[in-house]
Amino acid sequence: MSNKTKRFILPEDEIPRYWYNIQAEMKNKPMPPLHPGTKQPLKAEDLFPIFAEELSRQELDQENAWIEIPEEVREMYKYYRSTPLVRAYGLEKALGTPAHIYFKNESVSPIGSHKLNSALAQAYYCKQEGITNITTETGAGQWGAALSYAAKIFGLEAAVYQVKISYEQKPYRRSIMQTFGAQVTPSPSMSTRAGKDILTANPLYQGSLGTAISEAIELAQTTPNCKYTLGSVLSHVALHQTIIGLEAEKQMEMAGEYPDIVVACFGGGSNFAGITFPFMRHTILEGKKTRYIAAEPASCPKLTRGKFQYDFGDEAGYTPLLPMYTLGHNFAPANIHAGGLRYHGAGVIVSQLLKDGYMEAVDIKQLESFDAGMLFARAEGIIPAPESTHAIAAAINEANKCKETGEEKVILFNLSGHGLLDMTSYDKYLAGDLVNYSLTDEDVQGNLDKIGDLV
Ligand SMILES: *Cc1c(COP(=O)(O)O)cnc(C)c1O
Repeated sequence: MSNKTKRFILPEDEIPRYWYNIQAEMKNKPMPPLHPGTKQPLKAEDLFPIFAEELSRQELDQENAWIEIPEEVREMYKYYRSTPLVRAYGLEKALGTPAHIYFKNESVSPIGSHKLNSALAQAYYCKQEGITNITTETGAGQWGAALSYAAKIFGLEAAVYQVKISYEQKPYRRSIMQTFGAQVTPSPSMSTRAGKDILTANPLYQGSLGTAISEAIELAQTTPNCKYTLGSVLSHVALHQTIIGLEAEKQMEMAGEYPDIVVACFGGGSNFAGITFPFMRHTILEGKKTRYIAAEPASCPKLTRGKFQYDFGDEAGYTPLLPMYTLGHNFAPANIHAGGLRYHGAGVIVSQLLKDGYMEAVDIKQLESFDAGMLFARAEGIIPAPESTHAIAAAINEANKCKETGEEKVILFNLSGHGLLDMTSYDKYLAGDLVNYSLTDEDVQGNLDKIGDLV
């Protein structure tokens, strides 16, 4: 085993003081979100009824490249940040690759994933603005868990709609949310108009993120002093997550290297944005030739097979229309174990960057993702979240290419979370019960045809 440094961490006073807002430096800015009724471009004020005001401003900010992290949020970050940057010597050896593989370990946050980085910021701004209650939706439960904890820290009441199938299949994440004092409701529920409509049409519906978002937004709109929060997709969430890449940039410097390839798994794009944007800054401003790879599940391929168009963020059509790569807001993905990657669309910033050729996307089949997760677990001793295994699989593919060519490329990937609460998925894999889901072009096109052009 090499006697070189394996783990790079920053002293407290080196934790970044600003988030990086890539919108301000993009050559082609993302197109504006549109009001779902009037189809007019939205201003920050239009978002105030749903989101905290500061978050609404951050969402549409195309001017300020650096946004100061509030002292209270930075103090909370210090409990788990910086997260370690680790040289994956074990994985390199297992692969026999000349590539240098590094991963940023976001699984060390108190709730086990990167989600807390934005949850703390969102809860803080809500509290600052005198809000008492926050709502949200959660799929696999990572976001709900992060938000429930952040709400507790800043003294807010949290109500979480959890996609019904996850509520039933992942009971421990529900217990975690309840441990932090949140009220958790399986979605679709009879507590909202949106939920009732869907249940009336289809009483056995197992739920989707889109439906749960509709329910959470409706609750926020009908409850006084209550705001809605979202754990992915939106630009202010991507902004908060840049703490990951800003730290990684300093840590790679400590390691004396610079990444040729940066990889992350992709649900709505927040952990991908988080690790890549600070590096992509150098590609935009200085033409640095780094590759950025988003790894999505083959069963929910919005980046590799979706269409760039205006679409709703939720199933019921309550949200603004967003210019994004989408499979259609009514897309019902297969029930893969990477619950956090089952979303129909991609954030507007990443969508624009993909359209402009700044990044690439690959799709990974379920069995390939778990093969990679097993290999990583055995080599590095960390059981990755099923979502994160997609990033690992894509990083392994690149490392294997280096093996063929003999190139010593530097590959950095984000380990977005651990999988210690996802052992049922690993059990199924070990028992040979996991399957791949295929999606025909007709499935993809048929769904897009159904929604048509919305603008
Ligand atoms: C939510 C989640 C994801 C996917 O969300 P992004 O916004 O695309 O990052 C990935 N990994 C983990 C562990 C998650 O909790």
